[in-house]
Amino acid sequence: MSYPKPKRLQFPKDEAQVSWLPMLLNAYFIADKGVYEAIQKRIKRGDKLACAKGCSSCCKIHITIPVYPLELVGIYWYAITKIGAPLRDALKENLRHFSTGDPCPFLIKGACSIHPMRPLACRHFNVFNKPCSPGEDPYYTRRQDVLTPLEKYKNKALAAMLPFHGIKERGKRKQAMRKGFLNSQVQNLHEVNWKNLALRMDGAVLK
Ligand code: SF4
Ligand code: SF4
Repeated sequence: MSYPKPKRLQFPKDEAQVSWLPMLLNAYFIADKGVYEAIQKRIKRGDKLACAKGCSSCCKIHITIPVYPLELVGIYWYAITKIGAPLRDALKENLRHFSTGDPCPFLIKGACSIHPMRPLACRHFNVFNKPCSPGEDPYYTRRQDVLTPLEKYKNKALAAMLPFHGIKERGKRKQAMRKGFLNSQVQNLHEVNWKNLALRMDGAVLK
């Protein structure tokens, strides 16, 4: 399988109104470029990308998926404003009934319902040579087949999220990265109370 050359996602009307959105889309574009470059390097070495549309056992078995605050906001925004019926109803149902350790609540019929807004962790997880067997986490069974994301892009993507936390100036961003500021902000997707998102999708205003 091939990994398409990344393009920056565009939501021009929304980006004009929602100040954090260009930040998140830029961060994802940087991350995607890094993944693309790392995959090309592996392909040149003779590896074949195994990840493909419809292949999703990774979304069922991973129970530690870091999500940064800006990513969480992006997921809320996308689910509330961009997902229409019938996917919307299926997603709300998943979110209402989700418990830690279940397959990811955003996985619907073998596909990621928030694919453009999937977190960095999901974007970075790519496997070569053969698809994961049901229940297999190749990180433990065949680490050599798991892509190692390029640090330069990974860090740039994270740094691009810092203005969301009021850390805008270059020097301060460097310092925040050095001190691992975002590590103190990250949540596990499996520990987020997704019922709140289902309520918001129903139009409730949460306190
Ligand atoms: S990580 Fe494994 S299960 Fe997930 S898409 Fe890639 S090959 Fe398929
Ligand atoms: S967010 Fe999407 S890609 Fe990530 S685990 Fe969930 S369904 Fe899979």
